[in-house]
Amino acid sequence: MGLHRRILQFRVWRMPLVVVGSLMSVWAEPGLATATGQGLTTLKVAVHVHSTVSTGTFSPAKILELAARTGVDAVLFTDSVRRHWEYGFWPMRYAIDEPSVLQFGAERYLDLLRQVQRQTPAVLAIPGLEAAPFYYWRRPPLFDTQGGQIAAWDQHVLIFGLRDATAIERLPLAEYDPYHGNQGAAPYQRLIDVVARSGGMTFWAHPMTGHTGRHGRIAEATDPYPHLLELTTGYDGFALTYVGYLSLVDPGALWDQLLTAYCEGSRVRPTWIVGELDWRGPARPLDAVLTQVLVRERSPAAVIEALGSGRSWVIFRTGAHGLALQAFTIADVLSQHEAQVGGRLTAKGAVRIHVACDRPPSQYPATIKLIRDGAVSQTASVQESHVELDWTDERPPSRGFYRVIVEDPSGLIYSNPIFVDPAS
Ligand SMILES: [Zn+2]
Repeated sequence: MGLHRRILQFRVWRMPLVVVGSLMSVWAEPGLATATGQGLTTLKVAVHVHSTVSTGTFSPAKILELAARTGVDAVLFTDSVRRHWEYGFWPMRYAIDEPSVLQFGAERYLDLLRQVQRQTPAVLAIPGLEAAPFYYWRRPPLFDTQGGQIAAWDQHVLIFGLRDATAIERLPLAEYDPYHGNQGAAPYQRLIDVVARSGGMTFWAHPMTGHTGRHGRIAEATDPYPHLLELTTGYDGFALTYVGYLSLVDPGALWDQLLTAYCEGSRVRPTWIVGELDWRGPARPLDAVLTQVLVRERSPAAVIEALGSGRSWVIFRTGAHGLALQAFTIADVLSQHEAQVGGRLTAKGAVRIHVACDRPPSQYPATIKLIRDGAVSQTASVQESHVELDWTDERPPSRGFYRVIVEDPSGLIYSNPIFVDPAS
């Protein structure tokens, strides 16, 4: 890492070639599905949505109707798979079981989503889960006038791509006993591994969110858990919600450290991001955080595949609609081979980084930052509604990554990375 960094600091960057497209006379809201290069279209996905099956206040049917009205192309439902806490043994057993996918029935949950999909075909209804494979008793309930306290319960993992009920029913959600304190990363690693073997994918949910709550007589407290992203391996990525996300995705922060570890070979897989709403009801718009995926076809399987391949970016909407990343690609100048977001390029020589954005007319500029190997390498401030930027960089000495951050008063976009390997 040290040597790698020093090499980068002495890198000479060429001046950016900035091409700003013609000013659009009339601002047009970007379409729901925008054509991009390579036969890909984009879909806006609302990820991490709870329905009445678990902790949400709207039925899946109502959520799809709302999504259709909001311009969301797909809803990734993540109802809590199991919400169960217990203490002691019969006849001194104390248990609380709250609404969840397993209480509702895993097969019934999948059937319900298939049924609402038929009713509202305009929006994709994609089944997923939110799982908590562990909690532990910090204060036992039987000897505590407060009713006891559990910890670590809100350390959550989002699960996508499990399609049959048996795989859901067999998830390891109660394998670690809650009577021997914190078990660290082990229950989560076990869950990640089982989901991967079942053909699904896992994303850490809200790692910077601490939580306190009550479940009947039980008090619950969970601290933020970014350390679990470092202590576990083999998961697909993590989700960005409103709380504390900057300390994950700021240049050089935890995400870049995980991506650097992958480039250096000490992590076996890249770590992708998704945007998450943790949506339970109308308190917050369904499009406040969206994950825009690049897909070849409009299907749940294609959306899941894109999320698991990093072919996506995260959009936080902070104002009026409209900030949109239209393209992020890197091409080898010599061979003209091109990689999309989430992709990998083998470069024989210099590389050309291309970024295109659209945004609503504004008196304030948009800032576009190119992050290379965890550091800001280029910053462009632009005033136009349609922006195309091209930067040229030397061939990297070893595997590296680029990603993009776009910000203006209407929103904030974090792209997934593109990896670049030098040709040997
Ligand atoms: Zn959660």
